[in-house]
Amino acid sequence: MNKRHPKKATSVVWAGEEDYIIPHVTQVPVVQSVSFAYEDIDEWQQVALGQKEGHIYSRNTNPTVDVFEKKICRLEGAEAATSASSGMAIISNTLFGLLSPGQRVVSVKDTYGGTNKIFTEFLPRFNIECILCNTTDHQQIEKEVARGCDLLYLETPTNPTIKIIDLERLTKAGKKAGAIVVVDNTFATPINQQPISLGADLVVHSATKFLGGHADALAGAVCGRKELVNKIYHFREINGASLDPMAAYLILRGMKTLALRIERQNQNALEIARFLQTHPQVRTVFYPGLEDHEGHDIASGQMSGFGAMLSFMLKEESLEAVGKVISRLRYAHTAANLGAVETIVGPPATTSHVECTREERQAMGIPESLIRYSTGIEDIGDLKEDLDQALAVLR
Ligand SMILES: *Cc1c(COP(=O)(O)O)cnc(C)c1O
Repeated sequence: MNKRHPKKATSVVWAGEEDYIIPHVTQVPVVQSVSFAYEDIDEWQQVALGQKEGHIYSRNTNPTVDVFEKKICRLEGAEAATSASSGMAIISNTLFGLLSPGQRVVSVKDTYGGTNKIFTEFLPRFNIECILCNTTDHQQIEKEVARGCDLLYLETPTNPTIKIIDLERLTKAGKKAGAIVVVDNTFATPINQQPISLGADLVVHSATKFLGGHADALAGAVCGRKELVNKIYHFREINGASLDPMAAYLILRGMKTLALRIERQNQNALEIARFLQTHPQVRTVFYPGLEDHEGHDIASGQMSGFGAMLSFMLKEESLEAVGKVISRLRYAHTAANLGAVETIVGPPATTSHVECTREERQAMGIPESLIRYSTGIEDIGDLKEDLDQALAVLR
């Protein structure tokens, strides 16, 4: 009989959990132990030198954290994975672990706010040049990459205007220039998009968002080519931004329902986007699942679902109008995070672009009346009715 490759809905449940950590115990335990003891000094040394499987010290590796790394690794179809205490911890470890002074990074303007800060504030301090291109200007990105690029950093869909980047096209350009291609796959999740199959060398995740899905733990992961992951692991092991086993446990527990949640969230988001598109108080809806979205064709080619994230602009263009609408929503947290089972809303002015002035947001093409909407798993009828009654305040 041919051995079947498990589908994602099976892998989210089983990947990394085929062997029991404690014999007969079916669930992954929280191994809340800083160190691991060895009576035999030879065995201890072999494990310490990586010649034998095992754990020495939880800043380096830990059995619970190990299962999380294996699971995300398998879901992304990667060779290796490592983790860190948050999404930003893994992104900064990836960049600082791989780059050296004198090198050149090409990325886009619409990366996650924290990532953008690394490019504009921290890497330049170490004489690493960071070029941030207009997010959907593929030609400009290709041109900058061809000029010399050690690391190409991409994110799609982006925050908060949900732009789409052609990953296959740009990873090709990156490879040609000899660059390491890194993709932040937080918004799409491996259920909707697998950047490694499109040519990326590394995929980074804020597991805090959809992977965990319950907004109760911070975590980050990177997976991809083993040689690169090992370098990042080595840097993280030394700087110590390690993932806590309790957080890893919570994320793992959330990940078991990832396929189910994303399937529901894809459906809900598409329906919400269509509903808002025809709503009299709404000017524009940004969602790649809509046929008239600028990146719809690219998204259709590289994503198997369009994701839970959308944003929309009110006709009344003021932050005050945004405040009035979102404070009336009954089934949405007005909060800075995203990717949870609950619907979460917020304007860029308090979420993704809180560190920018009104003028800077304007210059970046981010309208003040934009509302970011992270669609939850609630009943779609309830969500639509809730939006409708909240938007009625503007009538
Ligand atoms: C939230 C987020 C991050 C940062 O993750 P943290 O876990 O909050 O540190 C990075 N990238 C994207 C796309 C995010 O949404």
